[in-house]
Amino acid sequence: MIYYSLNHNAPKVSFREAVVNGLAPDKGLYFPSEIKSLPDAFFEKIEEMDHAEIAFEAIKQFVGEDIPENDLKDIVREVLSFDFPVNEVEERVHVLELYHGPTLAFKDVGARFMARCLGYFNKNKDTREKVTVLVATSGDTGGAVASGFYEVEGVEVVILYPSGKVSDIQEKQLTTLGKNISAIEVEGTFDDCQAMVKKAFLDREFEGKRTLTSANSINVARWLPQMFYYFFAYKTLKSQGRDIVFSVPSGNFGNICAGMMAQKLGLPVHHFVTGTNANKIVPDYLKTGNYITQPSVATISNAMDVGAPSNFVRIQQIYDNDLETLRSHLSGYSYSDDETREAMQYLFKSHDYIADPHGAIGYLALKEFLQENDNSIGVFLETAHPVKFLDVIPENIASQIQLPEPIQALLHKEKKAEKISTYQQLKRWLILN
Ligand SMILES: *Cc1c(COP(=O)(O)O)cnc(C)c1O
Repeated sequence: MIYYSLNHNAPKVSFREAVVNGLAPDKGLYFPSEIKSLPDAFFEKIEEMDHAEIAFEAIKQFVGEDIPENDLKDIVREVLSFDFPVNEVEERVHVLELYHGPTLAFKDVGARFMARCLGYFNKNKDTREKVTVLVATSGDTGGAVASGFYEVEGVEVVILYPSGKVSDIQEKQLTTLGKNISAIEVEGTFDDCQAMVKKAFLDREFEGKRTLTSANSINVARWLPQMFYYFFAYKTLKSQGRDIVFSVPSGNFGNICAGMMAQKLGLPVHHFVTGTNANKIVPDYLKTGNYITQPSVATISNAMDVGAPSNFVRIQQIYDNDLETLRSHLSGYSYSDDETREAMQYLFKSHDYIADPHGAIGYLALKEFLQENDNSIGVFLETAHPVKFLDVIPENIASQIQLPEPIQALLHKEKKAEKISTYQQLKRWLILN
């Protein structure tokens, strides 16, 4: 598969180069040059296929010849070693739980797939050429990347996080793994971490010492595997014979954009709905036709506090950069923190269901759409386990949440992190280690 840059000012590349580069040299996002629908037979017999078989069929054209089919099958099977349950919450409303992976968030799928692809590409390199993945995290991304890359040969991971500004659980997820995962605790903010990472990528003095790369969410190997679970949900609900609507709580719009790619492959999706918090650039655009990025606003669904959604250019490309076409496929709604808390309370009291703040927004958006569309059934994506957001979940609900087994074990492990406060310290550490 050939990928081109959506800024149209960079060389075309293969899947392998797109994964290694992350972003194109003209700072554009990579996009596949061709999207071929899957055959009707695939959708007719989807019930007979397991998750890894479905995922392999969905992803193989996007990888092409860069990974042989048998290796790709192994990768996909390893990535998908956990459940993706779909449950009915109320009439016509289902929840797709994406939090049964190792770090309890949907980002596990993309991080694990990208890690194994990079590992495959670096397998036979000598140690001097080892790739170092350098990432800054404000919480969720770092954990998913750390766990996804853990023990992947040929790849080292260095994660920068702001001291005292991530939750206890998140800090343990970053700092207790060891082996090829190192944590750097920065005295500063997330923006300071991000600035150090950017500086390192431009620093010529690492040449010949370390090859630095990013595990950013715009990487095609993190974006595309997020298609998989839309197929899994369809497999579960197909026998109902109803139109299916997906509601996706969104920040950078990578997750929903992957669903749209699944639709391009022929997945029968009736409509997409996006729910956002106060960072409502996309819902506003759908309403007014004006796309206006904004500085982000802090909310209780903080993984969606994004004022300039990075994947939106891919969505524009999928729908021919045409607002009316986009509107016929996507509806968007936004909610305040109070509305989000009310939705968590309603789900808990009326349906005995505990949603996290992101999933609660997905639920609200789905309900709003279904009110005017009686023929559809809906699925909202629950993007993280509520235990990850205990401090912003109303107390009566939070007290009912049990720590999952892997998290309990984690809390007893010892934190290991290098404390720094300047770029020079980071550089010294990267050169000496
Ligand atoms: C990252 C994240 C989101 C937003 O996903 P995008 O692909 O950026 O739209 C939503 N919920 C949770 C819990 C997340 O971690």
